[in-house]
Amino acid sequence: MSYDDQNIFAKILRGEIPCDKVFEDDHCLAFNDISPQAPTHVLVIPKGPYVSFDDFHANATDAEIVGFVRGVGTVARMCGIADDGYRILSNIGTNGFQEVPHLHVHVVGGRHMGRMLSKPRD
Ligand code: AMP
Repeated sequence: MSYDDQNIFAKILRGEIPCDKVFEDDHCLAFNDISPQAPTHVLVIPKGPYVSFDDFHANATDAEIVGFVRGVGTVARMCGIADDGYRILSNIGTNGFQEVPHLHVHVVGGRHMGRMLSKPRD
C-alpha cells in the first residue's frame, strides 16, 4: 500500500488541520485522540510518511525507529500513566481494523484496561 499524503494525520503533521498536541520532537508528534476510549488516550505518530507499523519496520531508518519508540515512552511518562501501567497498541491493515493510513500508536491508560482482546461483534 502506498502512502496517501491526504490522510488526516498527514494533514495534522503539515499543520493543515489542528490537533490537541501533547508532545513533539524531531521524530514524532503526539496528540489526544478525538474519540478517547480511556481517561488518557494519546496517539503517537512518526513524522515520516509510513502507512503502518509494517511499513515502518521495513522502511524506516534506525534513527527514526529509535526516536519513535522513545517518543511513545516519553508520552506515557508525561501523561502520568507509567507508574500504574497502560496499554499501547497499533492497528495494522484490514484485519487490524486500521482506519487512518499513517502509522500511529495508541497510548491508553488512566483506568484498568481489562483483557487485551475481545471477540468482534461484526
Ligand atoms: P485506528 O482505527 O487505529 O486507525 O485509529 C484511528 C484513531 O484516530 C481513532 O481512535 C480516531 O478516534 C482517531 N482520530 C481520527 N481523526 C482524528 C483527529 N482529527 N484527531 C485526533 N484523533 C483522530
